Amino acid sequence: MTEQFDAVEVIAAKRDRHELSDAQIDWIVDAYTRGAVADEQMSALAMAILLNGMNRREIARWTAAMIASGERMDFSTLSWPTADKHSTGGVGDKITLPLAPLVAACGVAVPQLSGRGLGHTGGTLDKLEAIPGWRAALTNDEMMAQLDSVGAVICAAGAGLAPADKKLYALRDVTGTVEAIPLIASSIMSKKIAEGTGALVLDVKVGSGAFMKSEADARELAETMVALGTDAGVRTVALLTDMSTPLGLTAGNACEVAESVEVLAGGGPRDVVDLTVALAREMLEAAGKNDIDPADALADGRAMDVWKAMIRAQGGDPDAALPVARHTHDVVAQSDGLLTRLDAFAVGVAAWRLGAGRSRPGENVQAAAGVVMHAKPGDRVTAGQPLLTLHTDTPERFDRAIEALADGYDIGADAPGDRSVVIDRIGS
Ligand code: URA
Repeated sequence: MTEQFDAVEVIAAKRDRHELSDAQIDWIVDAYTRGAVADEQMSALAMAILLNGMNRREIARWTAAMIASGERMDFSTLSWPTADKHSTGGVGDKITLPLAPLVAACGVAVPQLSGRGLGHTGGTLDKLEAIPGWRAALTNDEMMAQLDSVGAVICAAGAGLAPADKKLYALRDVTGTVEAIPLIASSIMSKKIAEGTGALVLDVKVGSGAFMKSEADARELAETMVALGTDAGVRTVALLTDMSTPLGLTAGNACEVAESVEVLAGGGPRDVVDLTVALAREMLEAAGKNDIDPADALADGRAMDVWKAMIRAQGGDPDAALPVARHTHDVVAQSDGLLTRLDAFAVGVAAWRLGAGRSRPGENVQAAAGVVMHAKPGDRVTAGQPLLTLHTDTPERFDRAIEALADGYDIGADAPGDRSVVIDRIGS
């Protein structure tokens, strides 16, 4: 087959800060998916994009080309309106677990295609797999049937959805090119648009535990994704949310499931509850249901009923005991005072090193590994009190996890400023 372009010319164009044409973008995404453009060539192009950027037209075209690389799903035959949410990834970010059943309990179906964790951010599927019997792989027909009967499904994205992104994301992960706004925006939005949700709420994280460390970058990412979704006919809004400190009091797999169940039972940490309810409100509004307050469905147990039905529908036992780690280690406060900082990245790396995450795709994770926090920034602590409990089945991992936490928190005299978890909202 004669190729329409030469990969080297396309790479050189972006290297020299030129705009790529629609035809160049269509070709390179397609040719890479077919294997006609080599990994090393796509790596060079991804790095050129990271360094030199893309304009809105290029990003929109790149997104469309990734959507066109695979199948599109269609939920229009469902009797429910649909809304989905996507988080750009954080530490202790278990929000999908209580959120999907909560929104379904309010009459909007949630088709949540989730991923596995790589690096210091956890993956929703890894967390749910801590529940005995639960399975992530569903066929499209099973997914549709569950959406119709239960209203919520959290499962693995099938291989057919945006295969160009699957290949490119794996390449970016090992070539230092994840943190490019055009590539993150097109990666997320190609999957969400191909999935066919009617409305989409984006949780764009900002802070040490997020891909976007600065508010300005997070805002640019959010604005880019909202524009891509809106142009594709998906009602899209974004919340900018704080990821300088972990969400809730747990980072890991089974421990995050347990905390999510506490939220569904009407308890749980304030920040997790606040963000769950804020995102639920946005999803319901985007799906045209502004007359329902999701806080009520959380408080009166309706969301818990949907959670149990959702877990059972995928083979899990929602009442079974969750795995418990064979070994624990307490990190204790060295002095009296206020916890002034607890760094999301440090806690995320510690949980990962304890075995909650993987360093290579396909590796097994430990269901019971993770970090349980006993204080949040602003809490008073006393010398000798446990600040964090580390959980793992393999105690040789403790040293490296403790190392990750060495500069991960401060105890001082001055209370940290009160920062609410939701920083801003983007979209109309
Ligand atoms: N999540 C994605 O799906 N893609 C990215 O590029 C980053 C986060």
